[in-house]
Amino acid sequence: MAIKEYLSEEKIKQRVEELGAEISKDYAGEEVVVVGVLNGSFIFMADLVRQMDLPVKMEFLGASSYGEGTTSSGNVKIHLDLRKDISNHHVLLVEDIVDTGNTIKALQALLSNRNAKSVKVCSFLFKPARLEQDVKIDYLAFEIEDHFVIGYGLDYAGRYRELPYVGIWSEDK
Ligand code: 5GP
Repeated sequence: MAIKEYLSEEKIKQRVEELGAEISKDYAGEEVVVVGVLNGSFIFMADLVRQMDLPVKMEFLGASSYGEGTTSSGNVKIHLDLRKDISNHHVLLVEDIVDTGNTIKALQALLSNRNAKSVKVCSFLFKPARLEQDVKIDYLAFEIEDHFVIGYGLDYAGRYRELPYVGIWSEDK
């Protein structure tokens, strides 16, 4: 297998700073509950919240659709729900990547009747080539081509999440 660098650590850092500033401007003066979608978003979320100049609370949701392979199963499993009540709070859902859009759709449905003040989506990556759902991404770091990517939180069969850059994973030597 081979890993080819696709988004450098420097490029990611700069973009996350920009996003943090944009989000801080949009929510100025408001408290936000940042909800990370586990496992893939944990590194992006950790960097993003440190670039946000806002009062934030952090929560996590666990969802998975990939199993061990490199294509989405379309069958989204929610295995960890929020521990706190989000009614009357601004919620910012933080995803690692929107691919088919099935995960974000399922999570929005899960949160829809909980009376949040607002629910917005922030995704690190977006792969428009394979989109199946009508989803709105309010904040996006990078749109990417149709590659299976790893690093900066994203895995292949549980590995490579710790890479500081995003790489394209392939079976080639
Ligand atoms: P969706 O439900 O939008 O198809 O997929 C969302 C989830 O699939 C992401 O949260 C992520 O865990 C996984 N996923 C989609 N594309 C990729 C990819 O290129 N690389 C990795 N590592 N995971 C991906």
